[in-house]
Amino acid sequence: MAKKIVIDAGHGGSDPGTSSNGIVEKDYTLKISKYLKNRFDDLGIESSLTRTDDETLGPKDRPNRVQSFYGKGNDVIVLSNHINAGGGDGAEIIYALRNSDALSKSIADEFIKSGQNVRKYYQRRLPSDPSKDYYYILRDTPNNESIIIEYGFADSGGDDPSLIKNNWEDLAEAVVRGVANYLKVPYIPIEGSNVYVVKKGDTLWNIAKNFGISVDELKNANNLTSNSLSIGQTLVIPGTESFDDYYIVVKGDRMFMGNNE
Ligand SMILES: [Zn+2]
Repeated sequence: MAKKIVIDAGHGGSDPGTSSNGIVEKDYTLKISKYLKNRFDDLGIESSLTRTDDETLGPKDRPNRVQSFYGKGNDVIVLSNHINAGGGDGAEIIYALRNSDALSKSIADEFIKSGQNVRKYYQRRLPSDPSKDYYYILRDTPNNESIIIEYGFADSGGDDPSLIKNNWEDLAEAVVRGVANYLKVPYIPIEGSNVYVVKKGDTLWNIAKNFGISVDELKNANNLTSNSLSIGQTLVIPGTESFDDYYIVVKGDRMFMGNNE
């Protein structure tokens, strides 16, 4: 059963969320959410947005809105997008008590590859009833696979404010890769990105050679501990801004593979 995604832009309207360093949370969650929607469209993953403008959605309205699109099944992924506050630095992901950490881990891995550190991915229980999730967007969206993504801290003294303001598209793209990997949907890089998708016959050695980098540089940038690759795996190519040379390789690759089908 193909999974569907509800993209929730946190806060909105009379609830701006956190504000620091020129970052107003409700604006960034909306920008990120719209970006995700466009990219899921590119990848052929069905998705819907809880809000498309500066709308107020309260703690009762929002879970109802989430479940109005595809219902209450476990075939629905809910990505609730937020910007953190409290003085930390790095991304955090919170997943529901009913779910495993697999989706969160997949996204966390891609955040790291995008240059954003990950503080933790975790579950949080309601103190008054530890059988329930602390956050209502997880608690009140049974039996969806719901996660909260905190992209970074608006009030961090580290690089988060700069990452959020200048690299929010890279952070959002990391989520696209994490979801695509988790769903085993073929990932299509955005034009001009520094992400390479592993093709049949690729080795770390030939990929590194094609991009003029060392195998160690390639492994370090992707936190790889072994030399094995799988087809469709995404690799960040360090030190590259554009893929002008690379597209020639891809075209040849596809023609070669097409001739052998
Ligand atoms: Zn928030």
